[in-house]
Amino acid sequence: MSIYSETLENQKAFFRSGSTLTYSFRISMLKALKSALKQNEDAILDALAADLGKSRFEGYATELGIVYEEIGYLEKHLRRLMRPTKAKTPITQFFSRSYILHEPMGNTLIMSPWNYPLQLTMVPLAGAIAGGNTAIVKPSRYSSSTSLVMKKIISTAFCDDYIALFEGGHETNTALLDLRWDFIFFTGSPAVGRIVHQAAGRNLTPCILELGGKSPVIIDGTADISLTARRLAWGKFLNAGQTCVAPDYALVKKGMAEPLIAAMEKEIKKMFTSDPLSSEDLPKIINEKHYERIKGLIEGSVTSYGGETDDTSLRIAPTLLYPVKETDPVMQEEIFGPVLPIIEYDEFDAALDFIRKREKPLAFYIFSKDRKHISRALSSLSFGGGCVNDTVVHLTAPELPFGGIGNSGMGCYHGRRSFQAFTHDKAIMDKALWLDLPVRYAPFKGKLGLLKRLMR
Ligand code: NAD
Repeated sequence: MSIYSETLENQKAFFRSGSTLTYSFRISMLKALKSALKQNEDAILDALAADLGKSRFEGYATELGIVYEEIGYLEKHLRRLMRPTKAKTPITQFFSRSYILHEPMGNTLIMSPWNYPLQLTMVPLAGAIAGGNTAIVKPSRYSSSTSLVMKKIISTAFCDDYIALFEGGHETNTALLDLRWDFIFFTGSPAVGRIVHQAAGRNLTPCILELGGKSPVIIDGTADISLTARRLAWGKFLNAGQTCVAPDYALVKKGMAEPLIAAMEKEIKKMFTSDPLSSEDLPKIINEKHYERIKGLIEGSVTSYGGETDDTSLRIAPTLLYPVKETDPVMQEEIFGPVLPIIEYDEFDAALDFIRKREKPLAFYIFSKDRKHISRALSSLSFGGGCVNDTVVHLTAPELPFGGIGNSGMGCYHGRRSFQAFTHDKAIMDKALWLDLPVRYAPFKGKLGLLKRLMR
C-alpha cells in the first residue's frame, strides 16, 4: 500500500467516524487553520518572495489577505450554511415537509498550481473544512518554498487522518489521481484539467475544474484612456502576469492603440520605474522553462515598449506588443507573463466575433462608457466572470462566484459557493404517517380527472 492510499484509507475511517460533521469541529478547524497561518505569516511571505519574487505587500494583498477573508466569511456564515434549507412541497404531497441537507462530499483531493500557491490551496481547503470533509492537498512542485511552509502549517494544525499535504511531481499526481475520491477540486491549466477530468470520470467522481486560457479586454472608442491604462497595467502586471484572470490581450478601437500605449508607458514607469528589472515590486517568472517560453513569445512579435529581460533573476519587464497579428505566436497560447499584445479593431462587432471564435475565456473585461456596447458584450459573450472598467477585482467579492466555463473550467467557489462546492444537496421529503391518500395507488380507474386537476 502506498503512503497515499494508506493516508486516504485513514481519512476514510476518520470521515466514517462522523468527527467532521459537527459545527463545533468545523469551526474549531477553521480557527486552527487561521491561527497556524498567523503564526507563520513571515515564513509565508518569505516563501512567496523566494518562489515568485513577490513583494510582501503583493504577497499579503493577493494571497494571505484573501485567505483570511475567505476563512472569516466561512466562520461568520458557517452555522447558517450548515442548516437544512426548507423547500416548498407540492400540493400532491401535502402533509409532508421538504428540505435539503447539505452533506459533506466526503474524502476530497485538492490540487493547486504555482502562481498563487498559498491562496489557491488554502481557499479551497477552507471550503473543504467548512463543508465537513477530509482533504489531501497536492500543491505544485514549482512553488516548493511555499509548499514547505504549507506542509508545516497543515501538519501542525491537523492530524494526517483529517488533512494531509503531499509534495511531489508527476508520480505523486498520477498516484493520487489513481485513487478513488468523493470529490476532486483542481486548479491549473486546461491541458492538465482534461487529465484530471478523465481520471475523475473513471469512478464518476464529481470535480470542480478551475482552469485558464486567454482572457480578452475590449477598449472601445469611448474609454477613459488614462484610467484604462492604469487599471489594465495593474491587472496585467500583477504577479508579473502570472495570474489566471490576467487580461491576456487587448482589442482596441482603431486609432486608439498608440494613445493607449503612451498612457500605459506612463503607468508602468510610475509603478515599476523606468528600470523595471531593478524594481522590487516586479515579481519574477516562476522558472527557466516559463521564462524562455515567454521570451520566445515576445520575439515572435513587434515590441512597442519594454521587452528587457534578466536571465539571472528571471525577470521580464512589462512589455507591450504592437502591432500584433492573429497568427503571431503570442496569440496561440495563454501568455501567463508580463506581456500585453494589442490588436486594433474597426467595428465593435468584429471585436466580439474575434472573442467568440475562440475558447470561452475565464475572464473578460471591457473599458467603455457606452452602456449599449457594455450590455451587448456581456450578453453575447460566454466567459467565467469579469469586470466593466476594471480588471481582476471581481474575484475579491465573496458573494460573486469564481469559476470558468467550457475550456476555462467547470463549477465555482468563493464565499458560500465554496461551502456549496464541497457539499452535496441531499433532498428529503418527510411524510406524515397519519394520512395516506389512496389516489396514487392502483387501480387507477376513475382517478385521472382528479390527477389532472392537481397536476396542471
Ligand atoms: P498545471 O496544470 O501545469 O498544474 C496544476 C497542478 O496539476 C499542479 O499541482 C501540478 O503538479 C499538477 N499536474 C501537472 N501535470 C500533471 C499531470 N500530467 N497529471 C496530474 N497532475 C498534474 O498548471 P500550472 O502551470 O501550475 O498553472 C498555470 C495554469 O493554471 C494556467 O493555465 C492558469 O490560467 C491556470 N490557473 C487557473 C486558476 C483558476 O482559478 N481558474 C488559477 C490559477 C491558475
